[in-house]
Amino acid sequence: MKYISTRGQAPALNFEDAVLTGLASDGGLYVPETLPVFDTATIASWAGLSYQALAFEIIKPFVDGALSDAELKAIIEKAYASFRHDAIAPLVQTGHNEWILELFQGPTLAFKDFALQFLGHLLDHILAKRKQKVVVMGATSGDTGSAAIEGCSRCDNIDIFILHPHKRVSDVQRRQMTTVLAKNVHNIALEGNFDDCQNMVKASFADQSFLPEGRQLVAVNSINWARIMAQIVYYFYASLALGGPHRAVSFSVPTGNFGDIFAGYLASKMGLPIEQLIIATNANDILHRCISANDHSKQPLVHSLSPSMDIMVSSNFERLLFDLYDRDGAAITELMTQFKSGTMTLSAEAMVKARSLFSSYRLGDEEMLTVIQTVFERTGYLLDPHTAIGVQAARSNRSNQSTPVVCLATAHPAKFPEAVMKAGQGQEPALPHHMQDLFEREERYEVLANDIHAVQKFVATNTRK
Ligand SMILES: *Cc1c(COP(=O)(O)O)cnc(C)c1O
Repeated sequence: MKYISTRGQAPALNFEDAVLTGLASDGGLYVPETLPVFDTATIASWAGLSYQALAFEIIKPFVDGALSDAELKAIIEKAYASFRHDAIAPLVQTGHNEWILELFQGPTLAFKDFALQFLGHLLDHILAKRKQKVVVMGATSGDTGSAAIEGCSRCDNIDIFILHPHKRVSDVQRRQMTTVLAKNVHNIALEGNFDDCQNMVKASFADQSFLPEGRQLVAVNSINWARIMAQIVYYFYASLALGGPHRAVSFSVPTGNFGDIFAGYLASKMGLPIEQLIIATNANDILHRCISANDHSKQPLVHSLSPSMDIMVSSNFERLLFDLYDRDGAAITELMTQFKSGTMTLSAEAMVKARSLFSSYRLGDEEMLTVIQTVFERTGYLLDPHTAIGVQAARSNRSNQSTPVVCLATAHPAKFPEAVMKAGQGQEPALPHHMQDLFEREERYEVLANDIHAVQKFVATNTRK
């Protein structure tokens, strides 16, 4: 399987190189040249498979030639062994034909574990085979950092450095990162804000000469193709549990960078009957404005109670645009050039195509808190702030009550105790059993000045020989 850039100028890559490369040299994102399509009989034959066995069937065509069946199976087994629920992605009912898909059963209590546990083991396997070692560098305002650290902490061929803004991430989020004491894990608390962290990582990718001889940087952010690929699996898993593929299912997805819901779009293209894909946003609503009013304009960032969706521009949206424009790289390049002005307008044809599957919804903090409260009162089920936005989006946008709607639960409520307390539940949501000692665990992190030379020196010195 070949991977091509959404801007049409960068060389096509094989699977391994696409995973190691991140952003294409023309500024685009890598996507598979063709998608595998499964017929109804094939999908139906997967009913009853374990999550891991299903993951094997769905991922196999994408890695064709790069991994043997046994290698892929081993990577999948290792990735999901760290989840503490045997279903990996269990479903819970919260209303008539309304289901919560709990994607927070992994080590860091957020859905990012699905992709990053897989990616860590995948990278380590590829690197061992190539006798290569790499440095992973990333910036985080919360969830991504801890999931990346957990994903890479057992990888012999990766040293990982994650920057977070000093004193500006929540205690739970910081401790999820800083209590991982593996030798190859380094947390940098930067004396600056999240943008400073991100700029420093960007500059380091642009000029990697500070790294020790023979090392390169690898990005594990949500544009990494392998992350998207791993996320396709749970759309199939949920559908099969609810009567698919013989009946269509809808999904409501709390959306930031458009990675998670793009995986749902791919599932649909691959043959899974999906009636609606509902984009749920908070006050940072560029995608809602785009889908509802063809207004894709940058607005100032709002700090909300659902911080993992506080994003001004959704990078993976470009992958959808590529399809909406019939995979015309030149058209995407033009659109992205237009967007440098701060706004872009989609063609009427692209809007029609997008709206045939997607709808969107926006929910502010106050209304989100009411949803947490109402759902708790009616069902005893406690939602996290991101998931609550998805549930309301599902309730508002569903076009057909007889089609099951699955709301993706992207985080465990205990990750966001402040918001859940505000919703008036009176007590902090408890951390799951295996994390109850989080606040007693030893922490390790380095506070560094907001100075790129200090950061790069730290990275170079601490990269293992
Ligand atoms: C990352 C994240 C999201 C957004 O996912 P995207 O793939 O960026 O759209 C939503 N909720 C939580 C809890 C997250 O960590």
